[in-house]
Amino acid sequence: MIIPGTLDNHIGGLEVAARSGERIEKFDPCTGQLQSRIARSAAADVDDAVQAAKAAQPGWAAVPAVQRGQILHRTANIMEAKADELGAVVAAETGKSLKEGKGEVGAAVQCARFFAGEGQRLFGRTIPSGTTGKLNLTVRTPAGVAGLIIAANTPAANVAWKVFPALICGNGVVLKAAEDTPFTAGWIARAAAEAGLPAGVLNVVHGLGAEAGEPLVLHDAVDVVSFTGSTRVGRRLAELAGARLKKISLELGGKNPFVVMDDADLDKAVRWAVLSAFSNAGQRCAAGSRIILHAPIYDVFAKKFVAATRALRLGNGDGDDLGPVINARQLANMQAAVDRARARGGRVLVGGVRADAPELAAGFFMMPTILEGVAAEDEITHSELFGPITCLYRADSFEHALELANGTAYGLTACIHTRSFDRAFLFCERVRAGVAVINAGTHGSEAHMPFGGRGLSGNGTREPGTEALDIYSELKNIAINTDPSGI
Ligand code: NAD
Repeated sequence: MIIPGTLDNHIGGLEVAARSGERIEKFDPCTGQLQSRIARSAAADVDDAVQAAKAAQPGWAAVPAVQRGQILHRTANIMEAKADELGAVVAAETGKSLKEGKGEVGAAVQCARFFAGEGQRLFGRTIPSGTTGKLNLTVRTPAGVAGLIIAANTPAANVAWKVFPALICGNGVVLKAAEDTPFTAGWIARAAAEAGLPAGVLNVVHGLGAEAGEPLVLHDAVDVVSFTGSTRVGRRLAELAGARLKKISLELGGKNPFVVMDDADLDKAVRWAVLSAFSNAGQRCAAGSRIILHAPIYDVFAKKFVAATRALRLGNGDGDDLGPVINARQLANMQAAVDRARARGGRVLVGGVRADAPELAAGFFMMPTILEGVAAEDEITHSELFGPITCLYRADSFEHALELANGTAYGLTACIHTRSFDRAFLFCERVRAGVAVINAGTHGSEAHMPFGGRGLSGNGTREPGTEALDIYSELKNIAINTDPSGI
């Protein structure tokens, strides 16, 4: 059985139930049926995990970074060798296809290898001094205990993006896995143990955000927090961390613009728009949820885009295009948001309802949905839905397209389709986003690139890439008097 009937926390190298003995029911997104019961952790369980991490951290930090990297490499080897198994876990708990699950494992392996390699670098700097006979260096020291909280959308990648940089920097780690995708996190923790990671260095607690996530942020022995999730929760955690002067990295939501100008290759733009809006059932912070079309090509693009969307296949087979959303609440939120947009004059060009085919009706499948006629100030323009729903907007000019693109308080990714070098570069220069893309999709970064956003999309940090090392380490400036005659 790829998904066990129950799942416990991973604390101090042991699998332990929540102290209360309570469990949360986790449902299969494809069938709506009960899939498993996971530990419902609370502050006491989080404290156990933090104490385990705190106790193990000095020993881990004393392991040379190069050797820490070798343990990460071995973890990557196990993930790669068992990609079928781990991919199946990802697929089963998210409802995506095995092909997608394995693809995600591949990305997580890349991330592990990148940070394993950083064990051979972890560069500091040498900095000239204004004083004769003084040598200045910076070195990276571990932050201490890292508290990590992640979303459910891409479980293997989400674990990898936070856990591996935190580990290579020499931290003890407590990961609060997403309650809808707890199994991948548990699997990777056990793989790391098999690879030789000392017990207690990486701990995983399961449970609900308010009950198991907040205590992690509030815990005095947690030195740095990294959170990937919604803007609403991120804002709350920023307040809690801020009151404690605790370092926090926030990777939050997006309402990403996908702009198509009149000189674009329209067929190519349609293919990328479909991927941007609907891949992973739209459950991507980088999803293209606002398709901004230059007026001269609005009608022809809309027609092609609707036709391509109608052709998408829902299901969890390798030949299907998109699976379900993660839970019943998300599905209900989306349906309600579409209904409100309709009531305000929005027109549904395709989709707008949950899938009712007999083999899908019990799962959390939302039909890929395109709306038009929504206003720049409407609620749906400004709220992330995190599902397969996108809206079309008409732009009279390049300037207008840019204004619409920058018209929300989010700023994660953005994309333009145009054959004009000038338009492309002006767009990249002026769009308010952490990632700008020309003639492709609104997508995330690779493991060695910095990803993150502005405004409601984050607080300015970037993960992964070498920039993630700044989150999980503290820089220390070391000054050396090299002048034998210096006082
Ligand atoms: P969410 O904020 O509801 O939950 C994310 C995680 O936070 C879960 O583990 C949850 O248990 C925990 N959590 C919830 N309330 C909490 C609280 N009060 N205290 C501490 N932890 C709490 O988000 P979600 O709906 O599961 O995920 C979707 C969101 O994640 C979207 O907004 C999406 O854009 C965002 N996301 C961002 C990135 C990025 O890199 N910027 C990547 C993936 C997902």
